Amino acid sequence: MHNPGKSIPERFPAHERFAAGAQYIAGRFTQGTSGRTYAVVDPATGEEVLSYELAGVADVDAAVAAARAAFPGWAGATPGERSDALHKLAAVLAERAEDFARAESLQCGKPLKLTREFDVPGTIDNTAFFAGAARHLQGQSAGEYSGDHTSYVRREPIGVVGSIAPWNYPLQMAAWKILPAIAAGNTIVLKPAELTPLTSLLFAEACTEAGIPDGVVNIVTGTGKEAGEHLVGHPDVAMTSFTGSTAVGKRVAEIATATVKRIHLELGGKAPFVVFDDADLEAAANGAVAGALINTGQDCTAATRAYVQRPLYEAFVERTAALMESVRLGDPFAAGTDLGPLISHAQRDRVAGFVERARAYARVVTGGEIPDGKGAYYRPTLIADAAQDSEIVQSEIFGPVLVVLPFDSDDEGIALANDTPYGLAASAWSRDVYRANRATREIKAGCVWVNDHIPIISEMPHGGYKASGFGKDMSAYSFEEYTQIKHVMFDNTAVARKDWHRTIFGDR
Ligand code: NAD
Repeated sequence: MHNPGKSIPERFPAHERFAAGAQYIAGRFTQGTSGRTYAVVDPATGEEVLSYELAGVADVDAAVAAARAAFPGWAGATPGERSDALHKLAAVLAERAEDFARAESLQCGKPLKLTREFDVPGTIDNTAFFAGAARHLQGQSAGEYSGDHTSYVRREPIGVVGSIAPWNYPLQMAAWKILPAIAAGNTIVLKPAELTPLTSLLFAEACTEAGIPDGVVNIVTGTGKEAGEHLVGHPDVAMTSFTGSTAVGKRVAEIATATVKRIHLELGGKAPFVVFDDADLEAAANGAVAGALINTGQDCTAATRAYVQRPLYEAFVERTAALMESVRLGDPFAAGTDLGPLISHAQRDRVAGFVERARAYARVVTGGEIPDGKGAYYRPTLIADAAQDSEIVQSEIFGPVLVVLPFDSDDEGIALANDTPYGLAASAWSRDVYRANRATREIKAGCVWVNDHIPIISEMPHGGYKASGFGKDMSAYSFEEYTQIKHVMFDNTAVARKDWHRTIFGDR
């Protein structure tokens, strides 16, 4: 399986690029001051990619101070000026696309074809989208609603945003947090996952090269407990935007609430994939495998629970298993690799643990194995005959594992789809427009695809229902998170004793 690739320095020279440190504060790289080092590891080989000093609370304080100092100037820039800077950023990112793809593949174990064709172009497109959207931040129209006053609405930035991102799509998550925040005139301190800081740091450096002023975008790379909690609780941070697991999201919400911050939470998922009996079986099987295995299943919207109507069930299981077996595991940097390792050996073992426990109550149709070799690989796995209330159906696994269950009536299929605490994404597969349309209305999720599963676009919002959180990334809807609305009211009468003053002065 493992086709040994080039040695690490040729893949991406992380030690050289981040010799000055893995913090980016006020427009320059610095070393962390926590006194503790951390190693970024290539999950495909287990080799160290970068050793760096973690951010401590003093680094978070310095980053927040830089963001605070930069805020008045950036908030006061015209929408056109912010838009120009973001257009330049899109150009810098496009010039560096290969660098970003290699760094992302190295730290995450993603096949180069995924980072080159999905993560990096998606980020460039997002940047171009927000360059345009920065000029369309609108309040409502003005009017004389009381008769005696003119009212209007201003849409204003909030201040310093503190954001926390996960390791599964480090570049895209950084972009999704940074772009709407700064397009709207905020400044930001982002804490990436300590496992995967490389592309967030490159993104911040690209912001400086694009002419975005120092302090507008800052990166602190530290642990969740130390740097993360300090950032969320910081009195000079006006808003917390968090993407990660539901368990950590709850902790973040507690800390943010204690300091009365606005909160945006993008949390876990357990997306259902509902196949009605009139669906195109071949399309559904292909969609299920691609939707379940993308990013080695470490995708919050990945297809994880396939519910297949009884007449198609056996054929779907057979075809999906065959397609899974055709997927080529290998070196992320080698041509011909479809699937890379999981993010770490710990995550691989966690996934394997779910599958081993499931053997007691379900059938492993294919996969369920750790292949030979040093990397954190796990074979694509299909599980059948599990009960709806079992762990493998209810819990977020975050690995290349798809569970398939049968259903009889349309009512049952939709009810099962809704039967987990999560509500991030879902798909419905049918050639009957009424059935598919019903599913889109009744499935409780922030995104419902019809006859597809996974695609995202910059113009459309991404965010959860239920325990998957609230608030939106991407699209103009994200500005609802990153702006606040001010009502301005002008008196039009120029009268000293106004009519409403009768509530204070004498009788009518
Ligand atoms: P995680 O919750 O363990 O960590 C996310 C981030 O939070 C990391 O940067 C981590 O250092 C930080 N963190 C950890 N403890 C913290 C604390 N006490 N205070 C503040 N910050 C803390 O998640 P992960 O394992 O990195 O990522 C996988 C999870 O992310 C999955 O649950 C996945 O569904 C979710 N996710 C959701 C979306 C979405 O858009 N809804 C997108 C990607 C990933």
